[in-house]
Amino acid sequence: MSEESQKKIMLTGDRPTGRLHLGHYVGSLRRRVELQNEGAFDEMYVMIADTQALTDNFGVPQKVRDNVIEVALDYLSVGLDPHKVTLFVQSAVPELFELTSYFLDLVTLSRLERNPTVKTEITQKQFGESIPAGFLCYPVSQTADIVAFDATGVPVGEDQLPMIEQANEIVHKFNTLYGETLVAPKAMVPTDQYSRRLPGTDGKAKMSKSLDNAIYLSDDEKTVSKKVMSMFTDETHLNINDPGHTENNPVFIYLEALATDDHFRRFLPEYKNLGELKAHYERGGLGDVTVKRFLAAVINDVLAPIRERRKYYEARIPEVYEILREGSERASAKAHETVLRVRRAIGVNYFSDRKLIEKQSKAFKKKLEDEAKLAEYLARQKK
Ligand code: ATP
Ligand code: MG
Repeated sequence: MSEESQKKIMLTGDRPTGRLHLGHYVGSLRRRVELQNEGAFDEMYVMIADTQALTDNFGVPQKVRDNVIEVALDYLSVGLDPHKVTLFVQSAVPELFELTSYFLDLVTLSRLERNPTVKTEITQKQFGESIPAGFLCYPVSQTADIVAFDATGVPVGEDQLPMIEQANEIVHKFNTLYGETLVAPKAMVPTDQYSRRLPGTDGKAKMSKSLDNAIYLSDDEKTVSKKVMSMFTDETHLNINDPGHTENNPVFIYLEALATDDHFRRFLPEYKNLGELKAHYERGGLGDVTVKRFLAAVINDVLAPIRERRKYYEARIPEVYEILREGSERASAKAHETVLRVRRAIGVNYFSDRKLIEKQSKAFKKKLEDEAKLAEYLARQKK
């Protein structure tokens, strides 16, 4: 364990409930690629969470099935390199389910019901009284996903913080009960506040595949421009000369998350940087159309190389599945090591525990001998 715990290991993932969007990009994907290229971790794992996706999509399994390849294509398109990162599918790593079973005993129902992200999602998905048990428990299976790999870092958006907190509670409880066994993970949320939770094009709190308010990494130029031009902005900015608000204005939040000074130089040279553009908008005299056209150019610039790589892999689908199969095998081997450690810690490692077998074998032998002695004694007494 000590050697393992010194290693820097990353695990993160996404649910195959749709193609990935700009929220995923700024909240997590962009960071993963940077970490990969910096060589910041000894091992990196990225998981397509199909089993988790089924917890609220069990009635539409085809949706999950079809989106596994979409998410894999998005991963490869943003520049995740399967030689540096293990890309795998959750359902193909059975070790995760064994760990989930043990961890479920270490949480209470009321703790699960208090999880703020799960609470929001339950309302959003309109489960009412019929919350699938698997859905309520997904933070526990997510804990298994993380600790199975001894992950020290988990790059995620802000909505995932309660999950990492839950994971740490389980790790702490496990280690206290059964001895130091599991590694405690740390969330890595983006340092800029704009990328932690990118709003939707409709101005809603979170861009989400389930809310139909997303700009997808695979959208073509025209679609991006159309979506940007119909974006929600500042309701009070009716005439060009009115002073505008940039705070809580998704168009400016997207620019905060994506625009560089180089984008200004290339697409809107009248302004040096975002500071100047914001100042003008707030003063009045700058129209939404100009800002939106610039935003569309920025997004299309960011997406151009991503679209290129997607095309390359779309022409090689069997190869992509092979990448996932190999990755899942590697992930399974790694998770198996953790499972063995966990079984040992709890004491459910019967067949590989020689000492247990020897000790019990001796104890039972002694018992049989004692019984035999007693029988012999009683027989002698009778005579
Ligand atoms: P679903 O609606 O099916 O839950 P989702 O859009 O929320 O889909 P997930 O697969 O649940 O996507 O999230 C994957 C990762 O992307 C998580 O780390 C999450 O924090 C991050 N993420 C998702 N949406 C955003 C967003 N709008 N801004 C920043 N990060 C995000
Ligand atoms: Mg989500």
